[in-house]
Amino acid sequence: MAEVLVYVDHVDGAVRKPTLELLTLARRIGEPVAVALGAGAGDTAAALAEHGAVKVLTHDAAEYADYLVVPKVDALQAACEQVSPAAVLVPSSTDGKEIAARLALRIGSGVITDAVDLEAGDEGPVATQSVFAAAYTTKSRVSKGTPVITVKPNSAAVEPAPAAGEVEALSVTFSEQATGTRVTGRTPRESTGRPELTEAAIVVSGGRGVNGAENFAIIEALADSLGAAVGASRAAVDAGWYPHTSQVGQTGKSVSPQLYIASGISGAIQHRAGMQTSKTIVAVNKDAEAPIFELVDYGVVGDLFEVVPQLTEEIKARKG
Ligand SMILES: Cc1cc2nc3c(=O)[nH]c(=O)nc-3n(C[C@H](O)[C@H](O)[C@H](O)COP(=O)(O)OP(=O)(O)OC[C@H]3O[C@@H](n4cnc5c(N)ncnc54)[C@H](O)[C@@H]3O)c2cc1C
Repeated sequence: MAEVLVYVDHVDGAVRKPTLELLTLARRIGEPVAVALGAGAGDTAAALAEHGAVKVLTHDAAEYADYLVVPKVDALQAACEQVSPAAVLVPSSTDGKEIAARLALRIGSGVITDAVDLEAGDEGPVATQSVFAAAYTTKSRVSKGTPVITVKPNSAAVEPAPAAGEVEALSVTFSEQATGTRVTGRTPRESTGRPELTEAAIVVSGGRGVNGAENFAIIEALADSLGAAVGASRAAVDAGWYPHTSQVGQTGKSVSPQLYIASGISGAIQHRAGMQTSKTIVAVNKDAEAPIFELVDYGVVGDLFEVVPQLTEEIKARKG
């Protein structure tokens, strides 16, 4: 069976969820071979094996932390030369998309970004994308070289499938460009204790209807009862009620969680563009004519200041 390279996103050996999702998708098109780089790369093996990696290629060097993405591209290129994979899968983060684009250029391949699904095809893997503000769903395949595909978080369920996960050292020679852009400082973001917005399985968002920064506590309380991330509409972030980094939509972040709860959000096309592929959508809005109700699975016509706290209490009570 053909091997499929999966680029591993990890923090000091702790594998992040989108990589485990990639392993599920990789198994549909071949045998997953994971590529883990940097500090803690060897510590990723157990989790990767548990989720289907037949092999884990590892390499650690200071360059991965000290410089931007090019050392990682060098390593993936070396892995491609070693394995001759049927495809290379990379998580759709900002770094991931840059790595994928640079790798595709290096190896003379086509690249597909922001896939939301992946299936085997007669002439290579077929990727599904959600495009034009989620108005269309397209299917494409790379017609030249080894397909390099980035996949959005939450596009597949994480499915354990124990495999050998044999660790092998990858031999990497860094290119001249690898040390072209040095990282000069790092400042950790203040942690909210909540999951990262684009990776969260549940997102609870607030819009103009929340009517003030202080009222976002209601949205946060619901999010915390569900272990969710907090998102916001552009109207809410432009009003200064919530940070711009939490904006969901065309000019904000694209999320595709299992559950998206929108409160006090009208459902403008630019907001929908960032959340329309969510699996289950719930909205609370006092206007029964609000466009958000066109795409919801469950809708509550009501005042969010009454509905949301009740929902939070009910969830807490059920969790015991
Ligand atoms: C180029 C461009 C890019 C854009 N990018 C984005 C983007 O990335 N993300 C984004 O979100 N927007 C974006 N927008 C803005 C977008 O068009 C809308 O203006 C915005 O999404 C509206 O935000 P909202 O739904 O919170 O506010 P509104 O449209 O004002 O809706 C507020 C809703 O809250 C309801 N409401 C009010 N009070 C309550 C209450 N007490 N209880 C329950 N419901 C209540 C109202 O009925 C209403 O439906 C963009 C616009 C442009 C032109």
